[in-house]
Amino acid sequence: MLVLGLETSCDETGVALYDSERGLLADALFSQIDLHRAYGGVVPELASRDHVKRMLPLIRQVLDEADCVATEIDAIAYTAGPGLVGALLVGASCAQALAFAWGIPALGVHHMEGHLLAPMLEENPPGFPFVALLVSGGHTQLVQVDAIGQYTLLGETLDDAAGEAFDKTAKMMGLNYPGGPEIARLAEKGVAGRYTFPRPMCDRPGLMFSFSGLKTFALNTWQQSVSAGDDSEQARCDISLAFQQAVVETLTIKCKRALKQAGMKRLVIAGGVSANKALRLSLEKMLGDLKGDVFYARPEFCTDNGAMIAFAGCQRLQAGQHESLAISVQARWPMEQLPPL
Ligand code: AMP
Ligand code: ZN
Repeated sequence: MLVLGLETSCDETGVALYDSERGLLADALFSQIDLHRAYGGVVPELASRDHVKRMLPLIRQVLDEADCVATEIDAIAYTAGPGLVGALLVGASCAQALAFAWGIPALGVHHMEGHLLAPMLEENPPGFPFVALLVSGGHTQLVQVDAIGQYTLLGETLDDAAGEAFDKTAKMMGLNYPGGPEIARLAEKGVAGRYTFPRPMCDRPGLMFSFSGLKTFALNTWQQSVSAGDDSEQARCDISLAFQQAVVETLTIKCKRALKQAGMKRLVIAGGVSANKALRLSLEKMLGDLKGDVFYARPEFCTDNGAMIAFAGCQRLQAGQHESLAISVQARWPMEQLPPL
């Protein structure tokens, strides 16, 4: 089955062609980072307008790259939520219009299920069951995954998502958007031990997270440094390192707890923050000690992309799932509400 995947939930227009027999045939992405940078974050209206401009040229591009014609496509998968409603509506209406014109089925895909399954596009895919850590700009969740569509939420953040904390911490130190890769880059030059940040909610049992206090701690540390006359690049690097170490260690502690609670030794990490090298290293070490395995996608498939939507959609479309022509998207959509295959 050849599936066209469309991703428009936030600030990336992603398009891909995935074939159930031949694998990923082509994928293309247009990132709106430059468009939103001046505002320090995503401006929803600008995001929607840009998706409209990029969508059809990107679809043409992936068809050319895969050496395919439109009549070969069997079905269309698009992101139906969670995300920015205006942005989601661009992908949904484009998908439904093409599906109607081509006489093929369309299916709305859950964006976080896309992230969750993205490591299955790699050479050594994880088998079920596993524990997944979903760490993106909007989500921080620990999920027990028994099969596609069989998800049990084990824990999530009470306030900011991990990626959001990276972005906000970077912004207050005057770094560019998105802040995660910037903080990771500066942390490499940071001096360990100059600052120590707390590990929020690790001193009590449970699998919930809270990252807003860490962001405030970073703000206070930066302001104290500036008041003391040090607003240097090195101060930013040292704070970035201390902040990153606190996030990484907190996530690692909670992942270890979740694996123990679920009685599993297989961990999947997904979402933009899973591209973070320090996080990958820390989780690899923890799983190495437990004689388990950690799985993640290549960096470009950790952040938003069309390939993960084409892949996740293909699994469900092959099982016969599809929907009517109604254009319906959801800003919020708990993953446990998804049907099993
Ligand atoms: P997503 O919401 O899944 O598209 O991921 C975007 C989020 O991932 C943003 O908050 C980024 O700052 C964050 N991010 C991307 N790369 C990294 C990285 N290397 N380290 C930490 N956070 C990252
Ligand atoms: Zn995402």
